[in-house]
Amino acid sequence: MALRIALGGIAHETNTYALACFGPTELEDFTVSRGDEIDERSRGTRTFIGGMLDGADAIGATVILTTYAITQPSGTISRRAFDALRDELLGGIRAALPIDAVALDLHGAGVVEGIDDLEGELATNIRALVGDDVKIVAPLDLHGNITERMAENIDLMLGVHYYPHTDMYERGLEAIEALPRLVSGELRPVTHVEHVPMLLPASSTGAGPALAVNELCWELERHPQVVDCTFFHGFPFTDTPETGVHVVVTTDGDRALAEQTAKTVARHVWEHREEFRPETESPEIAIRRAVAIAAERGGPVVVNDTADNSGGGAPGDGTHVLRALLEAHPAKAVFGFVYDPEVAAASHRAGVGATIDVHLGGKHDALHGEPLALRVYVKTLTDGRFSYTTPMFGGMATSYGPMARLQVQGSGVEILVGSERSQTFDTEVFLLNGVDVRRYDIVALKSSNHFRAGFADLATEIVTADSPGLTTQRTEVFDRLRAAGPLWPKDPDAAYAG
Ligand SMILES: [Zn+2]
Repeated sequence: MALRIALGGIAHETNTYALACFGPTELEDFTVSRGDEIDERSRGTRTFIGGMLDGADAIGATVILTTYAITQPSGTISRRAFDALRDELLGGIRAALPIDAVALDLHGAGVVEGIDDLEGELATNIRALVGDDVKIVAPLDLHGNITERMAENIDLMLGVHYYPHTDMYERGLEAIEALPRLVSGELRPVTHVEHVPMLLPASSTGAGPALAVNELCWELERHPQVVDCTFFHGFPFTDTPETGVHVVVTTDGDRALAEQTAKTVARHVWEHREEFRPETESPEIAIRRAVAIAAERGGPVVVNDTADNSGGGAPGDGTHVLRALLEAHPAKAVFGFVYDPEVAAASHRAGVGATIDVHLGGKHDALHGEPLALRVYVKTLTDGRFSYTTPMFGGMATSYGPMARLQVQGSGVEILVGSERSQTFDTEVFLLNGVDVRRYDIVALKSSNHFRAGFADLATEIVTADSPGLTTQRTEVFDRLRAAGPLWPKDPDAAYAG
């Protein structure tokens, strides 16, 4: 008999500090896909659902597509929005009954007004609906702040191992491919969640301490009873009692082994914590260094504006790094991109070939910098639509809304302006607007780490610029009003007792 799987989800990385910037995240902010729309959006893409759909085909399962809601990281989700999405998802699962399994696309760091743990709440609701015999599986983002409640209600949680998240497809696939053994009872997963009181800055898994932790997890996974060992970096830009690093280990029926394995990894993370402490440069110093590297070794030197990463809940219209770039007077540089729908619209009204005066960016709050008064030449206008080519989201269609490529008058700097919030993942947005990044000395963009999947191979060097902002590497600057205890590196008293 083919397994029947209900598939859906609510995916959001909630930056609770962004409430002051945007207010709560409302229902209208979500992109909601229903039924076949989920297939149209995701099939053939390197995403969780892309992997889950192929996994269902591989095991010959019948998939009932319900509701999938996602939006850019932003402030706490309103209760009204969550209730509406949750009720719709539960309704879809109820209509799909009888089923063998529920497959969920979740993030792991969702926060709702009055609910610290979106995923735990949702999984509890689904468990109450489907009962204990139906298996629930979920691939998760390694930036999830994982809770006991999630582990109690989700049979198998598989976090991505890589940052950039280039293994989303594989983790989705794996979650579905485990279902026949879960449903038959051959695999009886027990999961231990080990909290480590640490706030990690963006930590690439390509090298360094985060890679070493992954390698330890993979070594421990060689034990025949260990099903999965995942190092969740956690999401430091949210203030809940569960915020922090978690090591999550699932074994086949052996609770003590799960706990012991998780603690082994957790101790390693804690003992190596100083290696995770970021060495950051101000925008001025980062740009100066980038200009020097480009002069010596050629471009493109990629500068990432890490503190204003929409992919972590920042507005995407910050001006600290762009201002530093303009003040350095580079010969040939491009900034891609600044979120400013007003300036994009003004450029489209003026048309290609026009010269206009704009106040660019800095329109959300003072933290991310003041607007820049610029005279710009409108070089290119586009619809902002393209498909990602990076291994993380490859094949996924997206839109940054109406875009403009603006040449700053009296300057070697060009700026891309978009109308939707997003970090920059790969070179496609530059190509769309007529820019071959290989011909530039400096390429600046807003992202903390995901861009590496699209730029590491072509950049002469990558230089990180940090500044005040909602996604700064300096996690210690945020107030922790809800923390359950001291957290490294903010509190010198933080201690891991495991
Ligand atoms: Zn992530």
